[in-house]
Amino acid sequence: MSRLTPYNSKRDFAVTPEPPGRIAKRAGKKLRFVIQRHAATRLHFDLRLELDGVYKSWAVTKVPSLDPATKRLAVEVEDHPIDYGTFEGTIPQGEYGGGTVQLWDNGTWTPQGDNPQRDLARGSLKVCFDGKRMHGGWALIRLRDKDTGFRKQPRHNWLLIKETDEYAKPGEPDALASEVTSVKSGRTLEEIASRSRKVWHSNRSEKKEPEAKPRAAATRAKAPAKRKAPAAAKPAAKKKLRK
Ligand code: MN
Repeated sequence: MSRLTPYNSKRDFAVTPEPPGRIAKRAGKKLRFVIQRHAATRLHFDLRLELDGVYKSWAVTKVPSLDPATKRLAVEVEDHPIDYGTFEGTIPQGEYGGGTVQLWDNGTWTPQGDNPQRDLARGSLKVCFDGKRMHGGWALIRLRDKDTGFRKQPRHNWLLIKETDEYAKPGEPDALASEVTSVKSGRTLEEIASRSRKVWHSNRSEKKEPEAKPRAAATRAKAPAKRKAPAAAKPAAKKKLRK
């Protein structure tokens, strides 16, 4: 089983514009991170840290807090493919994670320790972000499962906490809430959603289908919608889990 099997098995790539999961090669010396603002059933922030060819991922329930005294709940979710790091668009309603996804931050991160894999397994990872909105030291601390109803909801809960440094803003937990545009396109969630509706049928890439395209070309552009998802994502094996 690939580390991306859970990701693939939750999604129908003939329907969702999200990318199919493949393990990526490391692109550079630095590890990437991305935060996607996701207007699903509830608005949340999906934090993704590159590690070993995938994005380790958490759904943070509120905007990351710059106040070290204000901890944010970060629910561990399935590893995501590195291709996901540039995704912005609308996942159809009824699909897993249905709603609009906005690229809210991206950049690189550095583990503060020398063994981030071990630190993750132990439930205490300290990182340094070099993003557009996220800067400096942050900690991810896993809560003890017996304290968090893990058996009812089999996902580990973590806390995302700003460390005290020159980027911290004590007493201003919601300082980043005013940042509502995409770092990729400058668009608001509403603008992404309205654009996505127009190109709904075109499957994955909004960019590949300019609005004023001749009819024949537009028809051709639909063809990739039937492209096969990776073996792990065969419909028979697919389980739709809704948020
Ligand atoms: Mn999400």
